[in-house]
Amino acid sequence: MLPAYISHPDCIKHDMGDQNPECPERIGAISDHLLIKGLLDYMMPYDAPLATEQQLAQAHSTLYIHELAAHVPDSGFYQVDPDTRMNPYTYQAALRAAGAAVLATDLVVSGAAPVAFCNVRPPGHHAERAAAGGFCFFNNVAVGIRHALNVHGLQRVALVDFDVHHGNGSEDILHDDQRVLMCSIFETGLYPFSGATPRGPNMLNVGLPPRSGGEAFRSTVENHWIPALEAFRPQMIFISAGFDGHREDDMGNLGLVEADYAWVTQQLVDIAKRHAQGRIVSCLEGGYVLSPLARSVAAHVRVLIGAD
Ligand SMILES: [Zn+2]
Repeated sequence: MLPAYISHPDCIKHDMGDQNPECPERIGAISDHLLIKGLLDYMMPYDAPLATEQQLAQAHSTLYIHELAAHVPDSGFYQVDPDTRMNPYTYQAALRAAGAAVLATDLVVSGAAPVAFCNVRPPGHHAERAAAGGFCFFNNVAVGIRHALNVHGLQRVALVDFDVHHGNGSEDILHDDQRVLMCSIFETGLYPFSGATPRGPNMLNVGLPPRSGGEAFRSTVENHWIPALEAFRPQMIFISAGFDGHREDDMGNLGLVEADYAWVTQQLVDIAKRHAQGRIVSCLEGGYVLSPLARSVAAHVRVLIGAD
């Protein structure tokens, strides 16, 4: 009954070129730091399986899945949007990243693991039902959430997204699914410039202006997320765990630090213990400067697995 740590070497083969901050080294920086900090001693490692088409189709259109598969290049890159491109290994890595969320869901719902952390890329929360973008191809957490609802029969699942960018893809997929409550905090004025007007009553979007800092972040969690989550009583919590709001990460400007990620994780662990038998699946999203990324993930995982 150890917490699950899910990753796969295929996640390192996806590479969008030298200038792209969503780089393969992110995976190793995280795993090395979790190892050095002794946190992997408390976790059971699993290889991420490939998501099946049926699993992906719970969150994406079949046409989109087929189009993406058809665009895998034999060499070089296929450009999806200005930030996002596929190399010959991208599709396989994207299947692993979504498959990680499915395996994590299976382990946590069955009780084989109390919680799970997925150290995978490509990330997912900008991937819409029928569109890639913002470094994302398949929406890993949304695939996991639909698996929890449609296969395991859960009735209420919460998605919490603290990446510095708004999770437009998750909102696109889940905004008309009242079995899901999505709580997000993001920095305004950044890609993908969405979130100001929630697309459904189950979307709790809070945009914070640049340089808001940890205090504003925490009070938003306390005043907005916690009451909504308490009222919703989720049977399971998924986290879109993006760490690009860290003050050392130049992708955003929220000014968060490791202690803020540890604090918000503790709030979610407490909610999960009250309503969800402690069940949490956390999937890596953003975080692009390797040192603060690795330190922030370690702070998050330490609290997630109760290693304190
Ligand atoms: Zn981000």
